Amino acid sequence: MKNALNEILLTSNNKVLLVKNLKDWLSKYYDNYVQLLEYCECGSKYDDLPCVCKRDNSNEEFMELYVSLKEIFEYSKFEEYARIEINNFKKLCNSDAKIKDWLIKSEEIAIQKLCLFLIDYLDYDIEEKNIFHLLAYNKNGVEIFVDSCDFLNLINFKQLYDEMFYIKRKYPEALQKIEFEMKQAF
Ligand SMILES: [Zn+2]
Repeated sequence: MKNALNEILLTSNNKVLLVKNLKDWLSKYYDNYVQLLEYCECGSKYDDLPCVCKRDNSNEEFMELYVSLKEIFEYSKFEEYARIEINNFKKLCNSDAKIKDWLIKSEEIAIQKLCLFLIDYLDYDIEEKNIFHLLAYNKNGVEIFVDSCDFLNLINFKQLYDEMFYIKRKYPEALQKIEFEMKQAF
């Protein structure tokens, strides 16, 4: 599966990919991914023991690459949702009640599904003015970035949501619940 890695590196201009490049590559190699995912000759699927099948290095490398790129691609699916919700937010006229409804509506997406998005991918330059492209894969000296322009709405949406939710505490019941659970965990 060396070719799959080489191909994605060649596709990317200075290793910065667009989401559409990701999409093409993921669908092209989807069958290989599923095959490797399901490959097992040691019988672990039947007896609940961990799989001990030997896989060669290039297959392992391919799987890691595929999973990494798939993960960031899944986030890109929220871009349009984020764009719409940023626009909706602008119509709320600073009303606390409306902001709370807005937070409730996106709670599952913003708090659960996007939980680690900024932590995993957002990085600024030293002056904190420019967003770096998103580092999707980093292994053995190979770095693959995805163009941050394809995620701008999502980044802005998550930052706005977090500001309203965590800092301005516009939906305190949900925040208190999270804070309570955090205390229980430590
Ligand atoms: Zn196995």
